Amino acid sequence: MRQITVARTVKGVGIGLHKGEPIELCLEPLEANSGVVFYRSDLNVSFKAEPSNVINTKLATVIGNDKAYISTIEHLMSAINAYGIDNIRIVLNGNEAPVMDGSSISFCMMLDEAGIRELEEPKKILVIKKVVEVRDGDKFVRITPTKEPRINYTIKFDNALIGEQHYNFEFSKKNYIEEIARARTFGFLKDVETLRAMKLGLGGSLENTIVVDENKVLNPEGLRFRDEFVRHKILDAIGDLSLLGYRVFGDYISYAGSHHLNHLLTKEILKDKSAYDLVSLERQKAHEYERVFA
Ligand SMILES: [Zn+2]
Repeated sequence: MRQITVARTVKGVGIGLHKGEPIELCLEPLEANSGVVFYRSDLNVSFKAEPSNVINTKLATVIGNDKAYISTIEHLMSAINAYGIDNIRIVLNGNEAPVMDGSSISFCMMLDEAGIRELEEPKKILVIKKVVEVRDGDKFVRITPTKEPRINYTIKFDNALIGEQHYNFEFSKKNYIEEIARARTFGFLKDVETLRAMKLGLGGSLENTIVVDENKVLNPEGLRFRDEFVRHKILDAIGDLSLLGYRVFGDYISYAGSHHLNHLLTKEILKDKSAYDLVSLERQKAHEYERVFA
């Protein structure tokens, strides 16, 4: 099985969630062993999507360096990882990835439009060899060895509408598109004013965020799935874990996880060389992993 990139350059435009300004997004092919590389075209600065470049995880996952940053990369990264794309250049003319409809389906559509090109080099995946866990009180994220990558997510909110939701996702591109990609980001009405006061969330609206007030959803169209909230957390987790640079073969379990815990988990995994193997998918080895890329 070989590495892939996009077959051609595609462009999109949307507003940033936090600043509310229009941002152009371009997805471009990249050669083998390059990984996912972000490029700020307005500042002529690039950085690779990897845990060491993550600079903030409070409201979204932000990567950057001392010259520039890009916020809210997780939904775009999630789609790229679900499509199994190994190498891609993401060009943005601003400091956020566009929020689109608050899910990753627009990015999936852009990737469909771009198409896939196979490269010469064999694909590499990151196979988890031992349990790695990060905890914060009763909240945790954990990854364990497996041959059937799954994401098992539980959220618990002190809110009558959301309450406790649980979802077990079996990783494949097909399942991702059907079950996860359309799940939107969400927020609580009571937090909207706080964010606005911090000059954040200025691009947020009912067009790109599910807004919950007590026991009702304010969006006139309602929810896309009864458990859209936990599905979106899975979308986020896939994006956050993709910072490892490879498709991850492990069982990921989260209880009330966050971008912050996911980031700490990626660092913990990379810190311990005995926790994972980078497996090159030469022909004879590819078979057992192929199903996930279908
Ligand atoms: Zn999200």
